[in-house]
Amino acid sequence: MSHVLRRSLTATQPVIVKGEGSYLIDKDGTRYLDACGGAAVSSLGHDNKAVRDAVAAQMATLSYAHTGLFTNEPAEELASYLIARAPKGTGQGRVMYLGSGSEAMEAALKLARQYHLENGQPDRVHLIARAPSYHGNTLGALAVGGHAGRRAPFAPMLINAHHIDAAYGYRLQRDGESEEDFALRMANQLEDRIQTLGPKTVAAFIAEPVVGASLGSQPAPKGYFKRIREICDQHGVLYIADEVMCGMGRTGSLFALEQEGIAADITTMAKGLGAGYMPIAAVMASQKVVKAIEDGTGRLWNGHTYMSHAVACAGALAVMNEIDSRDLLSRVRTLGERLEAGLRSALGQHAHVGDIRGRGLFWTAEVVKDRDTKQPFDVKENIAGAMHMTALAKGVITYPSQGCADGTHGDHVLLAPCFTSTEEEIDQIVAVLAETISEAT
Ligand code: PLP
Repeated sequence: MSHVLRRSLTATQPVIVKGEGSYLIDKDGTRYLDACGGAAVSSLGHDNKAVRDAVAAQMATLSYAHTGLFTNEPAEELASYLIARAPKGTGQGRVMYLGSGSEAMEAALKLARQYHLENGQPDRVHLIARAPSYHGNTLGALAVGGHAGRRAPFAPMLINAHHIDAAYGYRLQRDGESEEDFALRMANQLEDRIQTLGPKTVAAFIAEPVVGASLGSQPAPKGYFKRIREICDQHGVLYIADEVMCGMGRTGSLFALEQEGIAADITTMAKGLGAGYMPIAAVMASQKVVKAIEDGTGRLWNGHTYMSHAVACAGALAVMNEIDSRDLLSRVRTLGERLEAGLRSALGQHAHVGDIRGRGLFWTAEVVKDRDTKQPFDVKENIAGAMHMTALAKGVITYPSQGCADGTHGDHVLLAPCFTSTEEEIDQIVAVLAETISEAT
């Protein structure tokens, strides 16, 4: 009997004992090709020696020193690296370290509140995010998330947050509407909501530059984030970019927002930062946010025991060194083109594939009952679950998600292969996904 309180208390799960390149291997010797890196975590594969050596070396010198009194070299070096590589416009910001994406989102929301208090604007209490969206499981992150199912059991305990539509082209772009017009129409929902709530009462807008978990790799339409930036600047609202899933090279640039030509006021990152070797997350505050605190109380109103953990930071720094020294961002773009072409060729005309979307090594197929009407499968059919198990039985790990019971979006399968995958592995992932969708739908 298992004493681990797992996500499913009833499922029998394979015991994974080893990682090797793009594969996970269980106790019985079964090999699973990892097509999603958990949830866009394992960018470097499962046995990266440089990262392991860096972690072991740091462990041998210094593991932990409380941040109330001390800083440490890996934390300082990693922060300088992230600030130097941040989207233009971030300025001389600073970075705080946490343990998970949810913690990073909590810290980002609190940082936004602190910024406005430091500036003498205590009435800025409203948070606006998008639906559908997912920003984490802790109560604050869950509150800003626009995921009806995950919010429902905890709804009475959640802080008040407001939601506008996610820029979900497949279902929301009108016939004949240009991408630019669609982008403006979606972004202007933020302007309308700010006006409704009262411009001086809004603290922050939260959105992933490329959506991950809730819609499956959904890039924004051209011009969307430029307009978002304008609206935020005009009303003194902070933009929090959630790069927990799409950041750290996944879309072909270190930060996904770089490709939109704007900078965020606060950025969160996690999964690909530690790439599965270390549980580490970070919040990057832009120069504007840091200056408000420096000119105000001079203290951060947030603290955790394990902030700036030296071993976690050394591991993340080694992950960043690997991405740069092996030019893995180029590899993401090249392999991403192969993955996209493979998906379009194998599934572009499939009767149950409504949309194929993504960027870099972050791709999704949305599965529908009726391609012409875009009608999703009934959630009771649990097509996502069937796809997951079918692909797994064929030795490939994918990341399917269920559609919404109200029919606003369908089931989808997200792929986020390792940046170190081979061409053959990418082709195998496509072939298995095509078989899987045909068998499960
Ligand atoms: N934000 C986004 C966009 C995510 O995809 C996730 C997790 O999937 C989170 C936040 C929460 O991160 P974590 O699961 O590490 O708490």
